[in-house]
Order: sequence, then C-alpha cells, then structure tokens
Amino acid sequence: MGTTGKWRCLDCGNEFKASVGGGFHFILYRCVQCDRTKSVDVERSSSGEWIPTDQSGVGVCQRCGGQLRDDINPMCRKCKSRNTEQLEIEVYYD
Ligand SMILES: [Zn+2]
Ligand SMILES: [Zn+2]
Repeated sequence: MGTTGKWRCLDCGNEFKASVGGGFHFILYRCVQCDRTKSVDVERSSSGEWIPTDQSGVGVCQRCGGQLRDDINPMCRKCKSRNTEQLEIEVYYD
C-alpha cells in the first residue's frame, strides 16, 4: 500500500509532499539522483518474489539515467537530503 502525504526534511526543516510505497501489483521506485518516481508493474514469481512484469526490469530514471530504488526516503527538494520523515498521511492508494 502506498501513501501520499506531507514530509519534513530533518536537515533544513523544509516541508513537502511526496508519494511512497507501492500497491498490490506495482512498486514505486525513485531515482537516487533526482527523486523522480516511477511505478513498475510487478508479478509474483514461482519463487515467491515480486519481480517486474516487463522483461527489461526496473530500468533507470527517464530524466537523468540514475539508479532506481524502492527502499529510500523521498528527497528534500531544497537541500537534496534524504534525512526525511513523514508527518501526515493524506491519501492511501493501492
Ligand atoms: Zn533521475
Ligand atoms: Zn532539506
């Protein structure tokens, strides 16, 4: 289950909105460099892991070519720190 909500940067105090997580059949990945998000459709493999349905896999960021990960916090727009915490959850989606 993913959420959209308000986040705060613990380094500079900036507050911003971000979406995190994934849904039942997709995972939300984010770029390690520019924080652009990409939802990737996944399916359960025979070994029980969730893997991208697309044979080419998760790929890289379409904007900057950076690595995509699903285990990092949203980046602060202001100072580019990932030392951030979620303040409020506004929307659940799946
Ligand atoms: Zn990027
Ligand atoms: Zn910041």
